[in-house]
Amino acid sequence: MADNATQTTDFAVFTGPVFRPGEPGYEAEIAGFQTAYTHRPALVVGAAHAEDVRAAVEYAARHGLPVAVQATGHGLSVAAEGGVLISTARMTDIRIDSGTRTARVGAGVRAGALVEAAARFGLAPLNGSSPSVGVVGYTLGGGLGLLAREFGYAADHVRTIELVTADGRMRTLRPGDELFGAVLGSGGNFGVVTALELGLVPVRTVYGGQLVFDEPLAGPALEAWRQWTATVPEQLTSTVTTLTYPDIPQVPEALRGRYVASIRVAFDGSAEEGERLVAPLRAVGARLRDDLRDMPYTESHTIHSDPDHPHAYAATNAVLGELTGDALAALAAATGPVGSIPAVVDIRHLGGALGRPSQAGVSVDRRDAAYVVRVITMPAPAAGAGVPAEHGAVREVLAPWTIGHSLAFLYGAGDGADDAQTRAGYAPDTYARLAALKSKYDPHNMFRFNRNIRPAA
Ligand SMILES: Cc1cc2nc3c(=O)[nH]c(=O)nc-3n(C[C@H](O)[C@H](O)[C@H](O)COP(=O)(O)OP(=O)(O)OC[C@H]3O[C@@H](n4cnc5c(N)ncnc54)[C@H](O)[C@@H]3O)c2cc1C
Repeated sequence: MADNATQTTDFAVFTGPVFRPGEPGYEAEIAGFQTAYTHRPALVVGAAHAEDVRAAVEYAARHGLPVAVQATGHGLSVAAEGGVLISTARMTDIRIDSGTRTARVGAGVRAGALVEAAARFGLAPLNGSSPSVGVVGYTLGGGLGLLAREFGYAADHVRTIELVTADGRMRTLRPGDELFGAVLGSGGNFGVVTALELGLVPVRTVYGGQLVFDEPLAGPALEAWRQWTATVPEQLTSTVTTLTYPDIPQVPEALRGRYVASIRVAFDGSAEEGERLVAPLRAVGARLRDDLRDMPYTESHTIHSDPDHPHAYAATNAVLGELTGDALAALAAATGPVGSIPAVVDIRHLGGALGRPSQAGVSVDRRDAAYVVRVITMPAPAAGAGVPAEHGAVREVLAPWTIGHSLAFLYGAGDGADDAQTRAGYAPDTYARLAALKSKYDPHNMFRFNRNIRPAA
């Protein structure tokens, strides 16, 4: 790194604040949603706009430093040790064009803010379960939304990408450009996105919520959900989650300390039709909670009610070609109340529009997948980035039905974010295409603090 006097001159180009270790504001700037570990860069640039991002990349290139990016810290995979961290949290500009049904979002926009902004025009983005996740990071990972079976991956709805590449150039990418589909589905491997233009959909309300079954009915509810998913239309996307609620005052009394199966439903249709569709699930028996209702899309974050406070978490996943009764029983035996793996297990139903090929070469593979199983464990705070032993055990249980792994749903466990794990997230020809483009656009692997695609030799 350059000496202090040179650095101070260099830093004058930034509009946003700049922090080095030990300086006031450094710890607050690197803090994110994931608390098990954090980036520890030599320099953080709190980018105020795209030009700050460009200048930060140029600075890193000049000094031969690697670059990490953080908007919210939900998806931290490989923590930076040294190098430059570009913090995009200040880049929260949202512009909606109701005529073209598009939104242009800055790199720091969170899903909840975009949902609110789009709703003023009777529109909705293809956001996922949590309002606090960053729109750009989510979309670069593919983006599996609440209504994913109806509309497909969020990445398939991107119109333009504004990107700063390792050479310090700002580029605007459109379908047909060779980097366009490579950027979508590969995290931050090709540069720093400063803004995305996204397609919106005309959805004002959604019928949905949760059906929560207590332990004695959890098994029958899982099996009923499995069979039911084969019958539902594309307009309905659902997830089943099993977990033991902690016995703490923040949890509603009826749920405290209980092992439950919670079915989360989002249906783009009338409440009458929704009620008819969910009847086989209600027939399983009494619910601890049943809040299915017609709601404004702005309340759709209540469907999953994801935790909104920063905490330590780790997760693995398996993408399945089918979910047989045997697969479900094996998973429940391993992770249920008498199983050996304490975890939150969440199975998302795929198919529908998710199965259609991308028109723009988007790098999201396994489109023949029928379900994705996520297994989330809670490491001790500051446990570091090791791979929890339970993750290997659960992968083994699901191995006979597994056709791949989703990189977007691997949380924490950064030590395991090796080449083999990244390759398993893609079809071999997709990985080869991405590696070739990486050697062209980022030959020195500046953008390596991610599920890293190594430049092809
Ligand atoms: C509670 C929770 C709920 C979730 N729900 C869903 C869901 O429903 N569907 C789904 O598909 N995913 C979901 N995810 C996964 C989520 O989409 C990824 O973790 C995503 O990477 C988070 O992006 P972020 O910007 O919020 O996080 P960050 O940690 O800030 O960023 C994650 C990574 O994205 C890349 N990145 C972020 N911004 C940029 C940028 N401007 N330019 C280049 N690269 C960038 C970087 O590699 C960065 O390390 C969820 C995650 C959590 C923790």
